[in-house]
Amino acid sequence: MTQALRKKADAVMMNTYLRPPLVLTRGRGCRVWDSEGNSYIDFIGGIAVCNLGHAHPRVVRALCRQAETLFHASNLYYTMPQIDLAAWLVDHSFADRIFFCNSGAEANEAAIKIARRYFHQNGETGRFRILCAEKSFHGRTMATLSATGQDKIKTGFSPILEGFDFIPFNDAAALEQAMGPDTCAVILEPIQGEGGVVEPGPDYLRRAREICDRSGALLILDEIQTGIGRTGKLFAHSHFEITPDIMTLAKALGNGLPIGAMLATEQVASAFGPGAHATTFGGTPVVTAAALETLKTLEEEGIIDHCAEIGAYFKNRLIGLQEAHEGVADVRGRGLLLGLELQDSGASLVSECLKRGFLVNCIQDRVLRFAPPLIIQKEEVDSLVECLDSLL
Ligand code: PLP
Repeated sequence: MTQALRKKADAVMMNTYLRPPLVLTRGRGCRVWDSEGNSYIDFIGGIAVCNLGHAHPRVVRALCRQAETLFHASNLYYTMPQIDLAAWLVDHSFADRIFFCNSGAEANEAAIKIARRYFHQNGETGRFRILCAEKSFHGRTMATLSATGQDKIKTGFSPILEGFDFIPFNDAAALEQAMGPDTCAVILEPIQGEGGVVEPGPDYLRRAREICDRSGALLILDEIQTGIGRTGKLFAHSHFEITPDIMTLAKALGNGLPIGAMLATEQVASAFGPGAHATTFGGTPVVTAAALETLKTLEEEGIIDHCAEIGAYFKNRLIGLQEAHEGVADVRGRGLLLGLELQDSGASLVSECLKRGFLVNCIQDRVLRFAPPLIIQKEEVDSLVECLDSLL
C-alpha cells in the first residue's frame, strides 16, 4: 500500500479499525493476495466467516444465478431461496422457525427482543432481565453491547440498556444463584470467541440448560462464531448434547455474504407475529441462495469432518509449541476455532507473521486466534506452525 493511498484512506474512513498497510484485492480458497501481488495464507478467514474459503465456485455460481434472476424483493413477499434456507436450517437443528437479518448483532437483537416479548405475551411483563457472561461478546448495537461482558466495548455509550446482569462464564453455581423470578433468558456463547477462545467445562452448558428449565427462563446460544461447522460439528452445542430455545447465527452462514439468523422453537417463535420485528434486507434472495449453497457444500463435501480432523491436528501442533516455548501460556479451542495464549502481547508476532505470508489475528492483547477456512490443509497448518516456532 503506498503512503498516498494510506493517507487517502485514513482521511475519509471512520477511524474504527487498527489496520496494517495492506489492501487485499483477491482471494481463492485459503489464500488472499494484496495490491502488490503478495499472497498470504488466511488464518483469520474473514473472522470465522469464509468457512469454504474465498470465492468458492459453488457459492459464486449460486450467487450469480440468483443475482440474474431476482436480486431483491423485500420481505413483503415470499421468495424461494429464503424458504429453502429456512427449511434447511429447521431440518438440521432444534429450531422450528427462523428469522433472517443481516449480521450477528442483529440476530442477537432479535433474540433479546423475542425472549422479552415471549414473557410479556404470557402476562409476565416484569420478567425481562437477561443473564450474560463476563468476557462475552454479542455485538455492537445498543442492546447487544449491553449484553456484552467487556467494559471496553461499552465505554462512552452510556446509558447502557437496563436489564442485563453478569455472571462469570463456566460457573454453574453462580448462574443458579443469579437466576431470579424476573430473569427471562440466559445468553451464552458455547465457546467464547472474542473473549479469548474460552471453552467451558464439559458439564457447564448442560447445567445451564437444567437451571433454565427449572426456572422457566429461555436459553439463548450465540453460535455466531462457533456455528456452521467451525468447531467440528454443525453447531457447537451438539458437543455438549443440549439444545437451546433460541440460537443466533451469522458470520459463516453466507460464507462472506452478510446474513444473520435467529432460530427458535415453535413455542418461543409464537411471541412474534406480523409487525413484531422486521428488517428490509433480512434474507434477500441473493444472500439466502448463497447461504443455502454454502450449507449444502459443507454437508455434501464432508467439510465439517475435515474441520474436526485438521482442527485436532492443528491443536496438537500448537500444544507442541507450548511445550517448546516459555512464551506460550495456553492452547485452547475446538475444531478450527483455536487460541494460543502468549505470556506477552501478540502484536509483534502478528506483524511478523504478515511479513512471512500469514494472516493471523490477536484478541485480548495476548491471544492469537486462528479461524481459517475449514478447507485448510495439513501443509498449510505446518507452514504456519513452523513460522510461529521460529518467531517464538
Ligand atoms: N456474537 C459473537 C459470538 C460474535 O463473535 C460476533 C462478532 O464477532 C457477534 C455476535 C457480532 O456479529 P456482527 O459483527 O456480525 O454484528
